[in-house]
Amino acid sequence: MEQRKRVVIVGGGYAGVKALQTLASSHLCDIVLIDQHPYHYLQTEAYELIANECSMTRVTIDLVALSLSYGEHVTFIKDTVREIDFENRCASGQNSCHPYDYLLLCTGSRTAFQSSTPGLREHSHGVKTLPSALSFKHQFEQRLYARMESEGGWCSEPFNVVIGGGGLSGVEIAAEMADYIRVFHKDNTLTCDNIHIFLIIPHEGVLEGMECYLIDKATERLIELGVKIINHSRITSVEEHTLVLNHEKSLCFDFMIFTGGIVASTLTATIESEKNKKSQLIVDEYLRVPTFQGVFAAGDIAELRDSDGELLPPTAQSAEQSGTLAAQNILALIENREMRRSQMKMEGMMVALGGSYAAISLFGVIRFSGLLGYWVKRVIMRGYRYFLHRQCAKGMDKLSKTKPQCHTGF
Ligand SMILES: Cc1cc2nc3c(=O)[nH]c(=O)nc-3n(C[C@H](O)[C@H](O)[C@H](O)COP(=O)(O)OP(=O)(O)OC[C@H]3O[C@@H](n4cnc5c(N)ncnc54)[C@H](O)[C@@H]3O)c2cc1C
Repeated sequence: MEQRKRVVIVGGGYAGVKALQTLASSHLCDIVLIDQHPYHYLQTEAYELIANECSMTRVTIDLVALSLSYGEHVTFIKDTVREIDFENRCASGQNSCHPYDYLLLCTGSRTAFQSSTPGLREHSHGVKTLPSALSFKHQFEQRLYARMESEGGWCSEPFNVVIGGGGLSGVEIAAEMADYIRVFHKDNTLTCDNIHIFLIIPHEGVLEGMECYLIDKATERLIELGVKIINHSRITSVEEHTLVLNHEKSLCFDFMIFTGGIVASTLTATIESEKNKKSQLIVDEYLRVPTFQGVFAAGDIAELRDSDGELLPPTAQSAEQSGTLAAQNILALIENREMRRSQMKMEGMMVALGGSYAAISLFGVIRFSGLLGYWVKRVIMRGYRYFLHRQCAKGMDKLSKTKPQCHTGF
């Protein structure tokens, strides 16, 4: 009898989790999910965490419990994959090598802190990882309160927050912080009304490449919230509290966040296969990495295209669709069936714009914004989390039955 195939998924983000769900429900193979963290970080809800609207548990899914919930054919291993021995089909972690028949790479992307911009990495915060989002929130509040303490609560000097990058994450964070500060003024008896948010963007406007409706709504809302948009500007150097722009102007800041673009996860540096300028792996229409046998890639780590060959933006939506497709194609190979070509497409876009406001465009025909947009986005996001939490609860249940009981003596 032929041995059961072993599928290794590296990365338990949006793409990896969707792939896990698809593969696990088939019971056709053994699945190993490897992630450097024991949780799936919901980056799409990072702005809520930053604005103090939710706690850490709301933006994480426990990968141990999730894996356990599917049964014995699924294993979770907490490890950082450093390189892959494609010849011997083994993904090398920190202490051990994980053998595979099929490998699915879903290690996502990281913020593109350009090395050509001195000081950028050292003096700005990112939000792409949970530790960075948590430390950002903590440090921001500490600096704000330290300033208020030292100036008797008045902030006579401006407190400047600078956000570099006018893409989806930059816009969402700028809007959410502006709204947070607005609420902070209303709620706080320590008046500090000298806080300014600057959004530095290299192009004419925000959300370059997105639909005009979303661009217009985002711009309107940012202006209404008092965000100062500095367009046609690139950050050329950053020091502890000052940055310089390409037209030699400088700006003092108390806090800086950088969201200006992404590059694929560092794992791609060790993979000798064709890549684009963002170091994303070039995959074929089945999401295979063509250079190696049995290797697929999904999510931000890969350059993804729709059925017409058009580039898809690096979003949770394309990560989920590609994770599902790659998993379906692995199952097809296991069962000697034909694989499916990419039919991926952007079904819509939702932009959170601070407080109870979001702009939404669905299927290119339905467009709305404001409170309704906020509720629709919230329901979709909560739906994603709710089903995963429910699945995790099954895993927790199994864990509590297998774990030795802890006797406290009471
Ligand atoms: C602030 C912010 C807001 C966003 N808002 C939206 C939005 O509203 N809508 C939208 O569609 N998209 C949004 N995005 C983009 C979206 O979050 C990403 O496109 C999505 O997370 C990509 O999914 P992924 O599975 O490819 O990677 P990730 O979700 O980043 O998952 C990668 C996983 O791989 C693991 N990993 C990495 N390297 C290794 C390694 N060497 N070994 C083991 N494990 C490893 C990581 O720990 C992680 O769990 C936003 C992003 C940010 C930062």
